[in-house]
Amino acid sequence: MNPFSLTPDASTYKGDVHFHTTDSDGRDTPDAMLDRLSACGFDFCCIADHDQVCVPGERRGVLVLQGQEASAGTGHIVVLASSLVREPGWTTVEQLDAFGASGGMTILSHPKIREFTSSREVSYGPTRLLEELAGHYDGIEVYTHNVGSGLRLAIDRLDMLWSAAALPWGAHAERTSGPVWAFASSDAHDTDHIDEGVGIMVWSEGLSESELLKAIRAGAFYVLASTKARFSELLIAGRTLSATASEAVVIRVIGVGGNAVSAVAGDGKAPLRLAYTIRGDEGYLRVEAVDVNGQCAYSNPIMVG
Ligand SMILES: [Zn+2]
Repeated sequence: MNPFSLTPDASTYKGDVHFHTTDSDGRDTPDAMLDRLSACGFDFCCIADHDQVCVPGERRGVLVLQGQEASAGTGHIVVLASSLVREPGWTTVEQLDAFGASGGMTILSHPKIREFTSSREVSYGPTRLLEELAGHYDGIEVYTHNVGSGLRLAIDRLDMLWSAAALPWGAHAERTSGPVWAFASSDAHDTDHIDEGVGIMVWSEGLSESELLKAIRAGAFYVLASTKARFSELLIAGRTLSATASEAVVIRVIGVGGNAVSAVAGDGKAPLRLAYTIRGDEGYLRVEAVDVNGQCAYSNPIMVG
């Protein structure tokens, strides 16, 4: 399985793995949030209340994955597939390693929150991502919908991480163990924050916790950053990268440094298709589908060369 394995007949499942309920600081009950997710077409979710592990299983038509948002003062972490609760004295690295050792997957929440205020230690700035925490986390939120989460778009952070790993002269390349995947979530604190165009689209063999986690760990998903655009194909076969998207006016292929290496435009009515011949010197590749409002669906990156 790789991040570019979506064929037109693959099953995709939509999820939102970061939101809150009245069990922590949310304003609506778990059932109300699940009903809203179901109405917005979500197949699965994680109820990421602060430092409280949710009960997994199917509830109100939505598959709930085990998880939480670990909420230390040094930065918040969405944790999937772990029943561990953090010890207050742990550093951020100790938390990430403990969750990882317990079988969990760790996603750094809203990396740019409060970046321009005095409490910037809760943000995940370049130094923390590339040095302090490198190799200890599995994903970052490149889009966090709730305004309360601060700056919403952090796709530049993902490009920074993948560029540092891809460039042969990159000072940080040897410290990065394993890929960092992009996530988008609502970080909803009430039902109005949940949006049908915000979440992750996973291609999985089936709708079970184990199958979804297998796919998410492999990066076999793309993220919806408040967009109508949807990929129906995202495939690398030989040296050809193929992408097809509906509700898209532009499809772009992005390489090292966040630079576009190819693009195609359309009217957004018919499905848009791009075929790109991989040169081998792009470092990594990822694909963006842009809707008529300029909002993107982002594929996960894949290393090339
Ligand atoms: Zn949160």
